[in-house]
Amino acid sequence: MGKIYLVGAGPGDPNLSTLRTREIILGCDVLVYDHLANPEFQKWTRPDCELIDVGKSPGRHTVPQEEIGKILVSKASTHKTIVRLKGGDPFVFGRCAEEMSVLDAAGIDYEIVPGVTAALACAAYAGIPLSHRDYGSSISFLTGHEDITKESLRVDFAKFAEIGGTLCIYMGMSKIEEIVDRLIKGGMPKEKPTAVVSNGTLPSQKHVRCNLGDLVEKAKGKCLQAPAIIFVGNAVGLSFQRSWFEDRPLFSKRIAITRSTAQSGKMKQSLTDLGAEVLELPLIEVIPSQDRKLVAEAFSGIATYEWIIFTSSNGAREFMRLFFMAYKDIRSFGPMRIACVGEATASIFRSYSLEVELVPAVSTAENLAQELVATDSLDSANVLVITGNRNRDVLVTMLETVGHAIVDVLSLYETDFADITKAKDLDSFKEFGADAIIFSSSSTALSYIEQEEDMTLSKGAQKPILCSFGPETSKTLLENDLSPDLQADEPSMDAMITAVTDKLSS
Ligand code: SAH
Repeated sequence: MGKIYLVGAGPGDPNLSTLRTREIILGCDVLVYDHLANPEFQKWTRPDCELIDVGKSPGRHTVPQEEIGKILVSKASTHKTIVRLKGGDPFVFGRCAEEMSVLDAAGIDYEIVPGVTAALACAAYAGIPLSHRDYGSSISFLTGHEDITKESLRVDFAKFAEIGGTLCIYMGMSKIEEIVDRLIKGGMPKEKPTAVVSNGTLPSQKHVRCNLGDLVEKAKGKCLQAPAIIFVGNAVGLSFQRSWFEDRPLFSKRIAITRSTAQSGKMKQSLTDLGAEVLELPLIEVIPSQDRKLVAEAFSGIATYEWIIFTSSNGAREFMRLFFMAYKDIRSFGPMRIACVGEATASIFRSYSLEVELVPAVSTAENLAQELVATDSLDSANVLVITGNRNRDVLVTMLETVGHAIVDVLSLYETDFADITKAKDLDSFKEFGADAIIFSSSSTALSYIEQEEDMTLSKGAQKPILCSFGPETSKTLLENDLSPDLQADEPSMDAMITAVTDKLSS
């Protein structure tokens, strides 16, 4: 018999899930989820994990509750770890108790993992205080309707009008007129501060703040729809200068990134922190690949090189991996000087407390070659250049012909086109499009050109602006009749993010 984990996914933003939630999803055999759990969680699962969508949305009960119970029981008889992922917290209007009863009856073991419930998260992300020493000393969680098929409201709102404090009303949008009416009939003044937050914590978050008397009109005017929380209470009326979440420069912008999955983490994080919704469309993959004999030769003669040059962080990482397979001690690195094309590559060496002697002011192979030549240290010097299979010869040619260096080239990885149809975010890209797509190298641009048909946008989808990392990438796009809408000031991640942010937030 397997074990069922009844897990709270939090309100939407996957960063609000608990460490326990992540740990369990990473290792589970089956993931049973509904529509309030962010699709991002599916990406955490193992490739062989079975995904079961039991999505419920207002008015559309795809899988009835009894059926969900049956699925859990049946999966527990064939699999070890089954996650039942629920939006927010499993115990807050989540029908968790019903599932526990089914599991009890079947004698199946379970664990419950709490999550951040929507009311708390929506309040935080819209900057709405729920309590205040002077304005609100109690907080109530209410439901507008527990079941869409039930006509009447179950909660006696007139009574809560008397109790006061801060009311957080879940599932209230379809009955918002009735709720407001009952609160006013129960004696609540029309001037009572209220707010509605829909799609809280997501890039599609919207909110409105107004008096109770204006709530219905204002919420409709701003097209606020479920899922949403209605807040009522004096503390809700405290307003602040900024909306920290919605005022971020890339808030609600969809940005597609195309570098390999292994390399996209930092960029995704930076864009997400600025408020963007990031779509991962890896167009290339980087695979370690080298000629063992050449590696052995380079390492055995390592003390003879005066310079070692890295044209990418992939090469740098792979070099250090091989280095530590060959040598135990960093001192075996010897006295050779290190040059790197950009700061990201240089930081890999600095993390080993190795000094990087040269990083060109502008991160291109040409600039690296020019600045190296200008050091006047190349004449007859042995130089080792670490590259990948797609690197251009320009650097080596310049070092040899202008700098008169003796150059050995060691290719340590291959960049291949990744099959875009395997990208989990591809469907979302095709259906809704994006505000921008970032090409971080010529190879991502070439791969896009080759696979453009598989990425064709649906009618009405947002056509993204094309963002190029640098002159080489722009050249590749232009040669293929695609004109970049912007190019980063220099080919680095920070410069690219600045350029995209300036363009999309202006
Ligand atoms: N167990 C969930 C609640 C499920 S009931 C929790 O703890 O949050 C579904 C209701 O939750 C929705 O109708 C809506 O009122 C609220 N809700 C869930 N996610 C939300 C979100 N991202 N933004 C606003 N309201 C949300």
